Amino acid sequence: MNANLAYVIRVSLRAKRVQMKLNQFGELEIVIPQNFNQKEVVKFVERHSGWIHRTRERILSLRPKNEPSSPFIPDDIYLRAVDRHFRVVNSASSLTAGIEVDYPYQVLEVSGSQAQQLVFINQWMQKKAKKILLPWLQNVGAELSLSYNKVTIRRQKTRWGSCSAQHNINLNRNLLLLAPELVRYLIIHELCHTVHFNHSESYWQLVAQYEPNYKALDHQLNRATRTIPRWACK
Ligand SMILES: [Zn+2]
Repeated sequence: MNANLAYVIRVSLRAKRVQMKLNQFGELEIVIPQNFNQKEVVKFVERHSGWIHRTRERILSLRPKNEPSSPFIPDDIYLRAVDRHFRVVNSASSLTAGIEVDYPYQVLEVSGSQAQQLVFINQWMQKKAKKILLPWLQNVGAELSLSYNKVTIRRQKTRWGSCSAQHNINLNRNLLLLAPELVRYLIIHELCHTVHFNHSESYWQLVAQYEPNYKALDHQLNRATRTIPRWACK
């Protein structure tokens, strides 16, 4: 079997037939119904190898250039939303001695195994997100005179934000990695759901009132999922 065709198998109670899923990193998941013979999966994958290769090529061509493959502790974290760079430095390495050389970068020190470093970075991201996104939401809410109930900030793979019927807003932590106009648009998008809990015409009219360029921004936001680096998704 082709070594490039690595995949994981997931048994689904709901699946009626075999399905192939490629995520934004080109990783393949084969979803099979409960009583499907797992030995058949190899044949299935081989039969579809042409499609898998083509689709994976297309997905990978959309990834950022020179992206390191796993293992993937980043050297540099760019919080585009606030235009700030952080250099990730392993405190066990001699690099720590050169902190001042890193100017204008700020340094984020990590230590331990790769898995521990990743946990550390993700906790750091969560704290940054609270510090940056909460006041941002508050400010835009005040500007638009739209109020909300509770706010949660979470790392999510596919959604940038949501607003519940109770006007609880959830923001994706990885918004920090996007351009500020996309963050602002997402916030406006969710705040407008406190008025219209749908995507009706009146809803979009309200959004347009606050952000006339909403169509282009919405499109960019949907495409932005694939720009999120691996370390931020795992
Ligand atoms: Zn919406």
